[in-house]
Amino acid sequence: MILLDGKKIADQIKAEIAQEVIQLKAAGKKIPHLAAILVGHDGASETYVASKVKSCEKIGFGSSLIRFENTVTESELLKKIDELNKDKEIDGFIVQLPLPNHISVDKVINAVDPKKDVDGFHPANVGKMTLGLPTFLPATPYGIIELLKRYTIETSGKHCVVLGRSNIVGTPVSILLARNAYPGNCTVTLCHSKTKNLKEMLLQADIIIAALGKPEFVTADMVKQGAVVVDVGITRINTDKNPKGYEIKGDVKFDEVAPKCSYITPVPGGVGAMTIAMLLKNTLLAVSK
Ligand code: NAP
Repeated sequence: MILLDGKKIADQIKAEIAQEVIQLKAAGKKIPHLAAILVGHDGASETYVASKVKSCEKIGFGSSLIRFENTVTESELLKKIDELNKDKEIDGFIVQLPLPNHISVDKVINAVDPKKDVDGFHPANVGKMTLGLPTFLPATPYGIIELLKRYTIETSGKHCVVLGRSNIVGTPVSILLARNAYPGNCTVTLCHSKTKNLKEMLLQADIIIAALGKPEFVTADMVKQGAVVVDVGITRINTDKNPKGYEIKGDVKFDEVAPKCSYITPVPGGVGAMTIAMLLKNTLLAVSK
């Protein structure tokens, strides 16, 4: 079994981007600037955004964090998005999800200028991705693809079972892995909560992408010997054992599944680390848009 070390690969990608920043500076060109909008005080969102800002600083990007309380109105948020769309210093920005219920996520995603949509969530960018045209790929699926690529994992002709069909992970990764490209050319089965015979489906998989948000859902009896398993799940479980008061669990029961796998991602240190690196890569791309 080989561990797909997302942390190590993400560090490599960040070092590559840092080199490009040095070259941009030397050529007197614009340094990439990423902004993040954070609404409220959700613990996980605070951690993700802090880590995005810290990564920007490390690689030499400019960064801005714009905070709103949970009580912010939809129109106030849309106004700020409009300002960021027009701000020439900002190359790309994200609105950290989830948002409070009184704000329409669709309206927010649609309001972001597709040229600055480094999360790759705008319908125009999703459309381009689906057609295989160059665009910002959503960071988590992009991270999964890049991880498979950097470990030169064969995907052509493989049966890939994706668990979860969200717009940010399951659906886009299923599209990317079905493309006529590398990584890609998989035969993809996209599963969700209404899927019947999930275990039988999983047992046919050469590659499993688990993105359902159900801790330790995938157990050894659901996995074929030699499968590649990518665990996207991140769930905080409260515990006294950890000084933080919680521990992170993936969607795969790692200890029992890992011995059956050819490759597997750990949680943490797998897909999560890659997500931030790919967001930075998208921001670098945004400078030339
Ligand atoms: P989501 O929007 O809640 O979607 C979950 C998906 O799983 C839905 O499509 C749902 O089906 C499906 N599902 C739920 N229970 C199921 C079951 N018993 N059997 C089969 N399918 C089931 O979740 P998400 O945003 O995609 O996130 C999934 C996980 O990935 C979460 O743990 C999240 O924290 C994590 N995540 C990690 C990263 C990262 O950087 N590593 C990034 C994003 C998300 P229905 O559509 O039928 O409801």
